[in-house]
Amino acid sequence: MRFTKLRLTGFKSFVDPTDLIIHQGLTGVVGPNGCGKSNLLEALRWVMGENRPSAMRGGGMEDVIFAGSGTRPARNFAEVSLHIDNSDRLAPSGFNDQDQLEVIRRITRDVGSAYKANAKDVRARDIQMLFADASTGAHSPALVRQGQISELINAKPKARRRILEEAAGISGLYQRRHEAELK
Ligand code: ATP
Ligand code: MG
Repeated sequence: MRFTKLRLTGFKSFVDPTDLIIHQGLTGVVGPNGCGKSNLLEALRWVMGENRPSAMRGGGMEDVIFAGSGTRPARNFAEVSLHIDNSDRLAPSGFNDQDQLEVIRRITRDVGSAYKANAKDVRARDIQMLFADASTGAHSPALVRQGQISELINAKPKARRRILEEAAGISGLYQRRHEAELK
């Protein structure tokens, strides 16, 4: 599974549809302060199911919707689409029937979030599990926020262990065990 394109529409500062093409190898994003570099990484985490407003630097989930600027009115929804090359057929079952996989998350004011995988409605949990099993999830240590390195250094052992478990790719199993215990 390889991410190939991220498309943002009405997400934070990206009011008009904007594509970030992710080529094989390293992709660098450069630009002046406040141009939206961190917003791109947040969009990636968000489409993979991030549900903590604090991780999106907002007070509520709807804060990801373009809030308007001097010349542009606010939007009513935000949408992020993630294109994935699945020609290696490594996507978990249920998502593994095609070479291309497109995951879309949309949030509408006063309605909330909805997810699609290859145009089919899916639940937030399905998307979170898809990426947790692929070890790239919203909480993946592969995505390093600004300021996160110093947080890591100061973290308590339990929090540090969670990061290691995510890196080892077993956090999906923990979530399933937790759900099984609740049943
Ligand atoms: P730095 O180099 O300082 O880290 P950056 O390129 O990472 O900057 P971001 O933090 O991604 O920049 O972008 C911040 C910009 O996004 C700010 O101008 C802020 O006003 C804008 N922004 C954030 N949320 C919204 C929103 N909901 N609607 C409109 N603009 C938003
Ligand atoms: Mg930044």
